Amino acid sequence: MSKSGKNISKWIFGYNSDFGLDPESSDAGRLRACQMAAIVNTSVLTILAKLTCVFVVYFTFRDSLSGWLLGYWAFALCVFGALGLIHAYQSKARGLILTASPRAYVKAINAAACSGGLWAVMPIMLYPNISVEERVIIIAIMSGLMGGGVLSLNTVPKAMFVWLFLLTSGSVVALLQNPTPVNYMLLCLLVVYAIALLRAGNTMASTFAKNTIAGFELSRQKDTINVLLKDFAENAHDWLWEINKIGMVSIGKEDFLRSLKAEFNTISPGDQRGNYGTEHHQTLNMRSLDELRNYYNAHKSFRDIVISSFGSEGAKWVSLSGKPIYNDKNEFAGFRGVASDITDKKKSEERIAYLAHNDALTGLVNRANFSRALDDLLQANEANLDWSVFYLDLDGFKAVNDTHGHSMGDNLLLEVAKRLKRPVSDKDIVARLGGDEFAILCKSAGSIQSVSTLAEVLLKEVGKPYNINEKLLDIGVSIGIALRNSDGSDAHTLLNNADLALYRAKAEGRGTFRLYEHQMDEIVKERRSLEGDLKKALKNGELSLCYQPLISARETKTVSFEALARWTHPERGSISPADFIPIAEAMGIITEIGEWVLREACQEASNWPDTISVAVNLSPQQFQSGELVETVSRVLDETGLPPKRLELEITESLFIENTDQVMQSLNALKEMGVSISLDDFGTGYSSLSYLLKFPFDKLKIDRSLVNSISHDENAKNVLEAITKLASIMKLTVTAEGVESLEQIKILLNMHCTHFQGFLFGKPLKRDELSAFLIQETIPKPDAMEFSETRKTA
Ligand code: C2E
Ligand code: CA
Ligand code: CA
Repeated sequence: MSKSGKNISKWIFGYNSDFGLDPESSDAGRLRACQMAAIVNTSVLTILAKLTCVFVVYFTFRDSLSGWLLGYWAFALCVFGALGLIHAYQSKARGLILTASPRAYVKAINAAACSGGLWAVMPIMLYPNISVEERVIIIAIMSGLMGGGVLSLNTVPKAMFVWLFLLTSGSVVALLQNPTPVNYMLLCLLVVYAIALLRAGNTMASTFAKNTIAGFELSRQKDTINVLLKDFAENAHDWLWEINKIGMVSIGKEDFLRSLKAEFNTISPGDQRGNYGTEHHQTLNMRSLDELRNYYNAHKSFRDIVISSFGSEGAKWVSLSGKPIYNDKNEFAGFRGVASDITDKKKSEERIAYLAHNDALTGLVNRANFSRALDDLLQANEANLDWSVFYLDLDGFKAVNDTHGHSMGDNLLLEVAKRLKRPVSDKDIVARLGGDEFAILCKSAGSIQSVSTLAEVLLKEVGKPYNINEKLLDIGVSIGIALRNSDGSDAHTLLNNADLALYRAKAEGRGTFRLYEHQMDEIVKERRSLEGDLKKALKNGELSLCYQPLISARETKTVSFEALARWTHPERGSISPADFIPIAEAMGIITEIGEWVLREACQEASNWPDTISVAVNLSPQQFQSGELVETVSRVLDETGLPPKRLELEITESLFIENTDQVMQSLNALKEMGVSISLDDFGTGYSSLSYLLKFPFDKLKIDRSLVNSISHDENAKNVLEAITKLASIMKLTVTAEGVESLEQIKILLNMHCTHFQGFLFGKPLKRDELSAFLIQETIPKPDAMEFSETRKTA
């Protein structure tokens, strides 16, 4: 519609014909459908009213007009009325229509025009032929029809306008046929009446349209809210609940513990059942329900009361908040509030609490909780109860972890945890303190006898082979034990004492147990402090080497020096390698120290005469890294020492583990041209089988055996057998710790090829070496005697 058209429409109808809607929009379609429906709703009544008017007019004036004219008129309107009724019936039968096209307006306007046209001719036909009173009736009927038409057609303003226009025009033409002052008066009144009706009708039309459009918006919002609410109800953890004076009215969430819903009914004062939850599949915690009941009875608001229930679906928690509601007369009407499913939150809280008390991997009690249990037991101070604390550390666990990976390590720890629980009683507490350390608070064993028995069982149980992921694993355990009645008055001390005993068990060969003794404290303290210092010793230049000569029996002169490590502690002074080398081994830093010794010794030897070799001691751990061969070769390269001038001393303990790898390394070293000596022979295992395993170059007889030969016939026989075997195997034999000529006599008779000992020279500092070698060329009484002894032997 053009702008001027819109203005005219607004002027006549008092509204914008499209009510601000796009005629093509769905809202416009829905509005048209509503407007039509409003007309249809009132059409039956208005049609019946109009037919009544038709009958009144026909029977009143049928004689006023000659012929059938009025009859035809009445007939036409009756037919029209009948069509209208049929249409109304059909519309009702069709039910609600959601949208209507603009053609619906055209139909309505057409119908108004036809019916209005027929009614408009009626006064024009009758007016000239009737009396003044009869004319008043006609005008009254016309006025009534105009008003009635506005009431029924106002929702479609154009149809209403057409109707009014036709009826007013018909009446005006009729009145003008008889131009009397009274008729003019009536004419004016009629026009004013028509305009007033038009304005009123338009106002109604616009109100109807506005309300209808607002209704659309409202229903749209309602739809959105419904969707949101549905979504909320389906997904949210919170919902609304209400309870009235006689029990539950509604509880928003269907799956909310059915039993709780039933329990809620018991909260109302009418029903005070005592046995909560017995007939439900969930059991609820009574204390919270009692609390809830108290609030209910006191009509008091409450917040965050947590109801928990435990049933087949597991534990559930709901937090409830509510406040009393009152009716119009301010009487108590029940409670209304919000419920939240806090199961997830509770579960994560419980998990956190569990992890705070338990070890995540094994589920055993953790260190913090173990200490607490210890404290509790000490505080309970049950005089007649003897109990003990076991501190356990796995042996060889690190190797499993390193070679098979952490997940294997975890599975192994799980299995160990199970085995530790087996022999202890239910009252005892097994804990994992961290890594591969475990502890047992043993309430069932408190005497030396009983703890020893249990420790033996644990050693055996943990020491059995493990089959994990189809791999056979072997580990052991060391155990330290502190007894409650003698070893400490607080949790920390007790655990610490058990740890000290464990330390001792480890130091004394592992795979064993030790009970705490008071002097352990000092020894361990000492050792720990040494450990700390040793870590820094190499870096601080506190380590040095001494060289002890090895004398050839045949040439009676030095053929090599053995490099011996020395540690000069800044406070304690000189510390023996017999003390610190085992510590370095236990700490796993021997490889580092060993490499330093090797480099230092080779460097030093490269300055010596070509005829003199250097012997370096190796620890078994140095073979484990797998880098020993490469290290030796690199050091020889760097220092320029020929391989044949290096002797490596190893001990039998090397062959106990990893034989294949050790053999490979030894062969590689030998191929390089380095000599290999078997050190300390005659102590430890002294298995001759080791001698056959590898083609050693030299056998070194341990000092303790050499010491015994002068007074122990047995030792002498053993030594003799060894040297015979060695000579068959073409090995050189060095006797260590030679301190007297008497020993030399015996040793020479046994075909010892080399000697090492204080008789020939103590370990020397670097700068003493050249003086020693020079002195060797000058005959000394002792040396001369040795020469003599050699000749007579
Ligand atoms: P070992 O390899 O058997 O070294 C010989 C030890 O006997 C040295 O003790 C030496 O001083 C001592 N000794 C030599 N002749 C006599 C004697 O006539 N009478 C007495 N009473 N003792 C004698 P030291 O230097 O205290 O070394 C002890 C042990 O420490 C060595 O025994 C060796 O096993 C170890 N060790 C020393 N240095 C190193 C090293 O650099 N690496 C490794 N892995 N171990 C070393
Ligand atoms: Ca040695
Ligand atoms: Ca030795």
